[in-house]
Parts: sequence; structure tokens; C-alpha cells
Amino acid sequence: MTGIAGKVIAITGASSGIGEATARHLAERGAVVVLGARRFDRLEMAVASIASQGGKALCLVTDVRRREDVARLVEFAMDRYGKLDVLINNAGIAPISRLDDLRVDDWEDMIDVNVKGVLYGIAAALPVFRRQGFGHFVNTLSTAGIKIVPTMAVYAGSKNAVRAISEGLRQEAGPSLRVTTISPGYVDTELPSSMTDSSLRDQGELNMKAMAIPASAIAEAIAFAIGQPDNVDVGEIVVRPTAQA
Ligand code: NDP
Repeated sequence: MTGIAGKVIAITGASSGIGEATARHLAERGAVVVLGARRFDRLEMAVASIASQGGKALCLVTDVRRREDVARLVEFAMDRYGKLDVLINNAGIAPISRLDDLRVDDWEDMIDVNVKGVLYGIAAALPVFRRQGFGHFVNTLSTAGIKIVPTMAVYAGSKNAVRAISEGLRQEAGPSLRVTTISPGYVDTELPSSMTDSSLRDQGELNMKAMAIPASAIAEAIAFAIGQPDNVDVGEIVVRPTAQA
């Protein structure tokens, strides 16, 4: 199936920011969207708002640190709609810090959400895509993985782990599956709220105020990749503010 209309698209981290904006954007273009995240109230609000605009959306509470939750999100889409065209592995956190600070719990959290969460998405959807003979993974990375700067080592490492996994997946996927990575720069979202170091959080919020682009810019790029013909695999997309060094 070419285009966006009629596709069933599951999105993790869809309760705010890039995931929510992408769900709205794709639903406006006729996709059926299945939203997953932990905050049920925010998911419900997004689903109601999409429905009020004539879009089709459902949601399921999903913690990507739990393999069974991610599996349930995929099963939920399959039960309701009989297929899954796209899984957007978007959930992510950024409790950044200098390595000297030894905030090992934060390192583990980033690995659990940003890396293992994506692997659980692959584990849930890959067998479905194989059975169907079609399917598209879209994994959210970061420009933090392209230009590595102090405080971002573990966050960048988590995103670059997914970069490597995505490239391996692309090579193993064969001719009928598609794999896209998108690396956003500063985007105006709630991501700073996941920062546990208050001075870095304040700096992150300042950076966002100074230069961040709206989440809709990332949603448009994701929609571009999804909307291409089946035999066109948009591999890597980088979208950053012009003002970002
Ligand atoms: P937000 O904080 O607005 O969104 C993050 C989303 O991830 C929320 O929906 C949150 O939902 C969800 N999430 C966090 N932890 C979990 C979990 N354990 N299980 C399920 N969902 C979870 O930030 P963004 O929209 O910016 O982030 C989206 C992605 O974009 C992330 O992968 C981030 O790393 C990436 N990114 C963002 C950039 C930016 O400047 N904003 C730049 C580059 C990349 P909930 O809390 O309800 O579970």
C-alpha cells in the first residue's frame, strides 16, 4: 500500500511532543493511529482531539521498558485493524549529565527506554511484518548522536545504538520491509522534563526557547518517509533548526 491513507500506524511515546504531533499529522492524512505511552490521561486527550477532527485513533497504556507492554500495543493494533503498516519507535528520555557525575541510574534508564524499548518494538512487530510481507519501522534518533557533546555521552550512545541496530535491521529486512531513522535537532517538546539534573534541565529549556522548531516539523518528515512508494526506503532523515550549531 502506497501513501499514508488507510495505513495502521502504532506510535510509542505518543502522549506528548513528537509522537503526539506525528499521530495528529498522520491521522489528518487518513492513517489509523494507535498511540502508546504511560500517561493515560494525555493519550486519551490526544485520541479525543484526533477523533474530533474526524481522524481514527486508539490508545493503550504502554511502558516500553516492559516487553509485554510493547507486544500488547502491536497485538492491540492487529486485533482492532487486522494489520500493522508502521511502528514508530519514538518513546525516549534524556536525563543527561557529565560522566563524572556517575548518575548510573539515569544511564540505565536511558538504555532501558531508548535502546531496549526500541528492541522490544522490533521484537513485537518484526514477526508481524514478516507474516504480512510488508511493514515499516521508523526509529527516532537524535542529532545528539551525530555531534557528540559533553553531558550527552550516554544519551548519544543510546541513540547511536539504535542507529546501528536500525542499519542492521535494514540490511536483514530484505526487499519487502522498510526501515527509517529520523534524527531531530532541538524540538519544542516536554523532553527537558526527563532531565534529572536541574541546571542542565534549565539550560535545555533555554536552548529550546532560543531555537527549537515545532514537533510538527518532525511529523512532516516522518510522513514523507511513510508516504513514499513501497519500494522506496527513506533511510536516514536529519531535521534540525537552522540556528543549531
Ligand atoms: P517528550 O518528552 O515530549 O515525549 C517523550 C515521549 O516518550 C512521551 O510521550 C513519553 O510519554 C514517552 N515515554 C517516556 N518514557 C516512556 C516509557 N518508559 N514508556 C513509554 N513511553 C515513554 O519528548 P520528545 O517528543 O522530544 O521525544 C520524542 C523522541 O524524540 C525521543 O526519543 C527523544 O529522545 C527524541 N528527540 C527529541 C529531541 C528534542 O529536542 N525534543 C531531539 C532529538 C531527539 P509518557 O511519559 O506518557 O510515558
